[in-house]
Amino acid sequence: MLNKTRLLTPGPTPLPERVRLVLAQDMIHHRKDAFKSAMFAAQERLKILFGTTEPVLPLTCSGTGAMTAALHGLLAPHEKILVVEGGKFGQRWSQIAAVRGLVVSTLVVPWGTAVTAQAVAAALDADPEIKAVCMQVSETSTGVLHPVQAVAAVTRQRDVLLIADGISAVGISPCPMDDWGIDCLLTGSQKGLMLPPGLALLALSPRAWRKAEQIAPSCFYFNLCKERANVEKGQTLFTSPVSLILGLVESLDMLLEQGLESIYRKQWALTMMARTGALALGLGMLAPQSYTWGLTSVVLPAGVPAPEVVSHAAKAYGVYLAGGQDQLKPSVVRIGHMGWVDWSDILAGLAALKASIEHAGGYCGSRDYLECAFAAYQAALQGKVGEVPAFIHS
Ligand SMILES: *Cc1c(COP(=O)(O)O)cnc(C)c1O
Repeated sequence: MLNKTRLLTPGPTPLPERVRLVLAQDMIHHRKDAFKSAMFAAQERLKILFGTTEPVLPLTCSGTGAMTAALHGLLAPHEKILVVEGGKFGQRWSQIAAVRGLVVSTLVVPWGTAVTAQAVAAALDADPEIKAVCMQVSETSTGVLHPVQAVAAVTRQRDVLLIADGISAVGISPCPMDDWGIDCLLTGSQKGLMLPPGLALLALSPRAWRKAEQIAPSCFYFNLCKERANVEKGQTLFTSPVSLILGLVESLDMLLEQGLESIYRKQWALTMMARTGALALGLGMLAPQSYTWGLTSVVLPAGVPAPEVVSHAAKAYGVYLAGGQDQLKPSVVRIGHMGWVDWSDILAGLAALKASIEHAGGYCGSRDYLECAFAAYQAALQGKVGEVPAFIHS
């Protein structure tokens, strides 16, 4: 018990005390008025978070459940989709689609790089049968941020739906679905929303709803049209995840009290902080160009085994980092900075990372990496470092 536990993983993420206190409350009944008011309060706040006027459906499942509900609810077997595959979660779209009996065409991009809207446009031009594009806003397995706004500009001109997995983006970087023209945006509770796992959220555009209305249900549990009818009454189709909904209202209050713009700015500043610190340590960046604001993927010096670094950081310093996935397992460490994480956690994360790399026999550069990182954080908060992002809604 020497250390505090610091969850610097890209989900689940730490919980603020305000949310934990709400989660500790006794049960209320999900068909009675108190719960309905909480559902209406959640709806109002979720529409702001998603940037939509359409209902945002709460689904009792992890994020993958919402991905499943999207493909089953928007597409019929034998319909064709284009999947952007630049990591584990891109591949997941293809796996879900295969079970649904969809025809999948993949647009493979190297792990660590983002897709381009031109490549999506070319793939759609080459195959007019494609009914939907499936992608991640933020590919958590690599730390890449895909240009969803630019891809949406391509799909909204055509009869093609854009289905975006925003699980490590919603509440972390701007992703206003109506403005950008995203047809399906979904997320999970355990990443940017400062909640435990177990709740997913999904919204559809008007044209996606028209498509959903024509699809015969493929299973009993996920039924988007029936969920929408329930949400309008402050209800869910089956027993609601009561505590998670109450916690959601609290966490959304925290985000909106601060204002989404300052939340995004904080996420941007934490990203600048992690990247600057890691670069000062002489580490490589897996996503050098287009990177997400919720985690930073670093490439370790040759010969330093990432799994050993990750386990030592946890054991010796209480800092929980994530390893790389698949072929990146031996060499990549992912520093999560989403949810209830602040600058002091990143200082701890960088210090534990350096010490653990050295423990594994590697050498890490600069002594003033913590100062550099903190200076980058402060400058980014004031909009001085790097390209200052244009914030979409406040
Ligand atoms: C975490 C994550 C998922 C998987 O979510 P589960 O809640 O584990 O089902 C899918 N996509 C992205 C981008 C994620 O970050």
